[in-house]
Amino acid sequence: MEKKLKVAALKDGTVIDHIPSDKLFKVVHILHLDTCKNQITLANNLESKKIGSKGLVKIADRALAENETNKLALICPDAKINIIRDFEVVEKRPLVLPDEIREVVQCPNPVCITNHQPVQTRFFVLKENNKTKLKCRYCEREVKVEEVKIK
Ligand code: ZN
Repeated sequence: MEKKLKVAALKDGTVIDHIPSDKLFKVVHILHLDTCKNQITLANNLESKKIGSKGLVKIADRALAENETNKLALICPDAKINIIRDFEVVEKRPLVLPDEIREVVQCPNPVCITNHQPVQTRFFVLKENNKTKLKCRYCEREVKVEEVKIK
């Protein structure tokens, strides 16, 4: 019941729930919440039956863009996105990585063209036995999803 009330406190906007506690500030960083002027509520180290300890972000009057949900899918794939309208959860959006990610990830290869020219980065998303890897479309360098550098 208490959980419901916490979500209900937001009239319109986005709730990102079930963020692992150690990823909360990474989420703040990649969504640029430090400079966001909207009303933001952060909570961390909340009890979670599922993951032990979780963080939560509420952003009023903001929907997440596709590249933002892609970033979240890389950092905290098990987080849950709830879209709130008029105090109601109108949509629960699963975090799913597309087959290709553009712009979001920086290539780890120092000689890759994307690190020298104004070229949008493009990575193929490869899934092999439950592990996700990204492969640069330009230099073919592979990077584990846990090690990606997000722009
Ligand atoms: Zn590259």
